[in-house]
Amino acid sequence: MKRVLLVEDEDSIREMVALNLKMAGWEVLEAPSAERALELMHQSQPCDAALLDIMLPGMDGLSLCETIRRDNSAIGIIMVSAKGQEEDKIRGLSIGADDYITKPFSVSELIARLEALARRVRRTAAAEGKAVEEPDQLVSGPFVLDEKSRVLYKSGKPIDLTQVEFQIMELFFKNPATALVREKILEGVWGAGYYGDVKIVDVNIRRLRMKIEDEPSNPQHILTVWGYGYRWNA
Ligand code: CA
Repeated sequence: MKRVLLVEDEDSIREMVALNLKMAGWEVLEAPSAERALELMHQSQPCDAALLDIMLPGMDGLSLCETIRRDNSAIGIIMVSAKGQEEDKIRGLSIGADDYITKPFSVSELIARLEALARRVRRTAAAEGKAVEEPDQLVSGPFVLDEKSRVLYKSGKPIDLTQVEFQIMELFFKNPATALVREKILEGVWGAGYYGDVKIVDVNIRRLRMKIEDEPSNPQHILTVWGYGYRWNA
C-alpha cells in the first residue's frame, strides 16, 4: 500500500486531507507537528511520500524536510505553503523537496501530484529490486548514471541525487547537446498535465549545479539557453 506522511497543525485541514487520501487508497501517517512526524517515521515502515506544511508550531516544515532528506533520498516530498510565501517554496525546493503546493489547494490536484511522485518512487524501488542482468548505465563524458542504483558518478565519485534530480539528468543524458525548453523538462520529469510552474525546473537545475559542477556559478555541464531552457554538455 502507498504510504504518506501528512504533517499539518490545523486539525480541520489535516483531517480533511487524510480522509481524501484514504479514500484514494493511501495509508496515512498523521502528525500535527514536525516532532511527532519524526517520532512516527522512526516507529513505522518507510513512507513513499511526505506532505509537509511549512508553518508549524516548534520545528517548521523546512527544517523537517531537511531532516528527512538527510537520510532518505528516495521519499517524495511535497511542501505546503500559504499564499505569498514564495521564498519559502524556493527554499524548500533547494533543500530537497520535490514539489510544492500553495494553500488553499484542491484535494484532487494534491492527490494527482502525490500519485505522480509515488510512481517515481515505486519505479526506483522496482529498479533496485531487479535481478542483476546487464548494468543499466548511461555514460556521458566523466559522468555515469546508474539506473539500477539511481546514483550518478562523476569521475567515479558517487553523487547523491533526489528522484527529480535523477530524472532531469536522465533527460539530459538521453538528449545530449540539445537545447531543452523548460516546459519539456517539466513535462518529462513531472509528467504531462502537471499544474506547477516552470520555476521548479530552475530551482532543481540550480541544485544540480551545486552538486555536479566544479564551479556552480560558472557551469560547464548544465548550460543555460537564454529565454529557452537548458542544454547538457558533457
Ligand atoms: Ca500550519
